[in-house]
Amino acid sequence: MLEIPESKTISKQTGNTLTGKKIAEVFTATQKHKFAFFHGDPAGYDKLLTGRQVKSTKGHGMFVDIYCDEDVCITISEGTNMRYYTSSEQPPEKYQLLIVFEDGSFAACTVAMYGGIWAKKGMFDNPYYQGSLNSISPLDDEFDELYFDNIFNNATENASMKALLATKQRIPGLGNGVLHDILFNAHLHPKRKKSTVNDSRKAELFHSLKITLRKMTDLGGRDTERDFFGNFGGYETILSKNTVKNPCPNCGDAIFKEAYLGGAVYYCPDCQPL
Ligand SMILES: [Zn+2]
Repeated sequence: MLEIPESKTISKQTGNTLTGKKIAEVFTATQKHKFAFFHGDPAGYDKLLTGRQVKSTKGHGMFVDIYCDEDVCITISEGTNMRYYTSSEQPPEKYQLLIVFEDGSFAACTVAMYGGIWAKKGMFDNPYYQGSLNSISPLDDEFDELYFDNIFNNATENASMKALLATKQRIPGLGNGVLHDILFNAHLHPKRKKSTVNDSRKAELFHSLKITLRKMTDLGGRDTERDFFGNFGGYETILSKNTVKNPCPNCGDAIFKEAYLGGAVYYCPDCQPL
């Protein structure tokens, strides 16, 4: 899933690899996927995209934008994996969209559970997209303690740490993946209620959020997610599906997993008391 570290990493990789390339041909899905979302009918993508040249890219929140000339943009979201292949490689058996460039290289978009692949001309009025595009990223200096305090103070007293950080798009691109190490580094349980978090713990959470996301981004995303070249990111997750039941690096207790708020949460019951 694309979250802040991955959208930044992939936009950098797509920018370095695709800028200047011209689209030669576009192939639509090898088989229908109920939860692959498109802008209009993807049958029209070939006409819309062929001949377009990639100008720049941008990663924000859980989105990666590939801006082309003629005001055309390809946006992928959250659960879409976009992978680059050279002209000597074979395309994958299944994909939702294949974009071939004039030099024979191509990018294949695949969707596992759900994901968007939106190609369009002009403005894209999806509210999640606009919210993400216009928000301040935790990677930016403007996302300071005052800005975070405002987000914190606007959540209800009963909100849990997971609800506060990873729901309602308060911080676009901070989802149920990056959440766990942020909370681990701040010694906060995902179910811990906001009303029990004092000012010094809140400050610790702010610093953990900034430092953890920066580290994940600088290392090319998390080791649970693949980048534009099909490689896992260089950031070793402390808490994830890769480490469940492993000993906690702080105390040695087993890392715990449970279902909570529409997704699994991982934590150390000792280091992150409720
Ligand atoms: Zn521990």
